[in-house]
Amino acid sequence: QKVQLAAAREERILVLVRLRPLSDQEIVANEVADWECINESTILYRNTLREGSTFPSAYTFDRVFRGDCLTKQVYEEGAKEIALSVVNGINSSIFAYGQTSSGKTYTMNGITEYTVADIFDYINRHEERAFVLKFSAIEIYNEAIRDLLTSDNTQLRLRDDPERGTIVEKVTEEPLKDWNHLKELLAICEAQRRIGETSLNERSSRSHQIIRLTIESSAREFLGKENSTSLAASVNFIDLAGSERASQALSTGARLKEGCHINRSLLTLSTVVRKLSKGRQGHINYRDSKLTRLLQPCLGGNARTAIICTLSPARSHVEQTRNTLLFACCAK
Ligand code: ADP
Ligand code: MG
Repeated sequence: QKVQLAAAREERILVLVRLRPLSDQEIVANEVADWECINESTILYRNTLREGSTFPSAYTFDRVFRGDCLTKQVYEEGAKEIALSVVNGINSSIFAYGQTSSGKTYTMNGITEYTVADIFDYINRHEERAFVLKFSAIEIYNEAIRDLLTSDNTQLRLRDDPERGTIVEKVTEEPLKDWNHLKELLAICEAQRRIGETSLNERSSRSHQIIRLTIESSAREFLGKENSTSLAASVNFIDLAGSERASQALSTGARLKEGCHINRSLLTLSTVVRKLSKGRQGHINYRDSKLTRLLQPCLGGNARTAIICTLSPARSHVEQTRNTLLFACCAK
């Protein structure tokens, strides 16, 4: 049965849902947790005040993770297989989708760290091959791309490269030395993201962060020889803008235009994901946004994709939680 599950996963987007626990502040504010994972694939809305209503209450996905699950478990049982396909030359993307404060950054940072640890472990166990692991990080804010590894504020451009597909021109690619080096780079990215905003949440609710690990390897015995073959692939960790921005953009009102501009990438991603989930044929509008254009080689075709939808269990967030689950349903 395990083999079947793996085969099924390869064809489509893996959709995972992660519920976070109530925060201390929410507990102090007498918030109630209305969502519960009743088994490994079903999450249930339980609000006694709503009993008897027609509100759909059970949602099923590839895997759901309860509030008390550790990120390690989300990684091992959800993202690992897809993230590590990069060592076999397969591109992949892991997205975190959810409203602000639902746990996207918490989840993605942990998963990035576990992936890097496992990649280094793999490299150490395969001395017959020579590896180069590179790290880059960008932010897409208002459809403008910025390098998160430099304090230089200039906008980076996308370019179509005949060999490498769509690339970010002049982006910093830092050869990754070890796991501690990763921690340093992540801290630099966070500091860069804070610039110009009163709080990190303010900025991260509107911008997408993409961390890309690129791995190149070639067999040592053929190094420098003509018949040397090398493998190259990327894994992307995408910490998306707060999903409440997508519903704002879709709602009517004075903020419509601003919202649409800010979230063109988020909205296009939703359409692309919906189309991909229905089979990978027909025209897919990758070029409609920076995010999807950049990720195109890591989304369709041979690439592997996982979307982790993060949820707050709090009663006051039910509207956004439902929106996130509807997006998750579209993706599966
Ligand atoms: P987002 O990036 O979606 O805005 P964060 O990742 O910043 O949300 O999470 C909001 C807060 O909740 C942070 O303080 C974070 O440490 C905490 N948190 C998120 N998910 C979990 C979890 N699964 N377990 C414990 N704390 C969490
Ligand atoms: Mg965040």
